[in-house]
Amino acid sequence: MTTKIWANSGDSHLVEPGDLFEQNLPRSLAERMPRSVKDPDGVHETIHVDGQQFRRPIPAAAKFLTDEEGQSVGARAPGSNDKELRLKDLNQEGIWAELIYPSIGIWSGSIRDPELLAAGSRAINDWAIEFQRHSPRYVCTATIPLLTSETAVAEIHRATDLGFKAAYFPVAPPLGTRDWHYSDDWEPVWSAIQETGLVVGFHIGTEPHDDSTLHGAYLRGPGGAVLNYMETTYGGQRAVSKMIASGVFDRHPDIKVIVSEGGATWGPFVADRLDEAYRQHASMVHPKLRRLPSEYLYEHIYASFQHDRSAVAAQTAMGWKNVCWGSDYPHLEGTYGHTQKTLHELFDDVSPEARRRITIGAFEELFPHVPPAPQDGQELE
Ligand code: MN
Repeated sequence: MTTKIWANSGDSHLVEPGDLFEQNLPRSLAERMPRSVKDPDGVHETIHVDGQQFRRPIPAAAKFLTDEEGQSVGARAPGSNDKELRLKDLNQEGIWAELIYPSIGIWSGSIRDPELLAAGSRAINDWAIEFQRHSPRYVCTATIPLLTSETAVAEIHRATDLGFKAAYFPVAPPLGTRDWHYSDDWEPVWSAIQETGLVVGFHIGTEPHDDSTLHGAYLRGPGGAVLNYMETTYGGQRAVSKMIASGVFDRHPDIKVIVSEGGATWGPFVADRLDEAYRQHASMVHPKLRRLPSEYLYEHIYASFQHDRSAVAAQTAMGWKNVCWGSDYPHLEGTYGHTQKTLHELFDDVSPEARRRITIGAFEELFPHVPPAPQDGQELE
């Protein structure tokens, strides 16, 4: 019997009830919010968002959620839709606190109507905060209506007053807005984030969908599944590069950002590339920054990974102290059913200090209000 390793998760998800918008919004708005309809073929679903439709294969979770012997443990973790059962799953897996992203909100980047998005975001957040209040181990991210800075700023303040400690940001802003490095457009939003202290959570794979693209470009053909998964990885790196290069952290020195589910070794790599650009192209660089880009990345940016074998070395060998672990519970890319095996494979050859920093410490730094995690080896009912 191996010692139980406890870890906080920088990457978890909740699944909103299917009738969330029906129950909480006028019918005229509810019917335009994202919803999934299973196709008659049983293996595809169509996501309806504000008059648009995206058809995709239903993720084949049952095949992929596996235990330590590689055996299927079912289509969904038992607690994925239940805030009390979820704690049982976490105790079994050795996961203490979680940064939790919405599911349906991930489609909100495809909504074009600012008032619809604002109303939908309030409905999601009112539900998510009730989920968070169930346990101090739950750190839910607020959904922010980013189509206009006015609606975004209003919800950032409302969410903070409700008790949120983090905000979910898509890696690219909604269709119809300019990208994260257009400082003038986003300055009111960053000011509100600085003022409220919400942690910015970028979850990978959250580029807005339009009629022709998925994650920017939806590749078909040989290797498509692997390539599309790989493509989702780059968005988080682009988002933080845009924040750094446009001087967000010069103007707002307290903002902290986590990139969830995109590995971690990219951090030192991107830091080097940004520094080289900043130094070698100095005559063309605008705005000038007070410090090197890498310093902002190493200090303000955190990253959460689940299986990546190279990620631990981003901290132990490359000196990026903000590497966090994440379970991706309850998604099929995640570790449910084999979390302890994964944690032992990742950390058995790592010093206890480095391991505790990645599994517990970096997360605690972002969310100091979370109660202390159990010591390794401890069991909870
Ligand atoms: Mn995730």
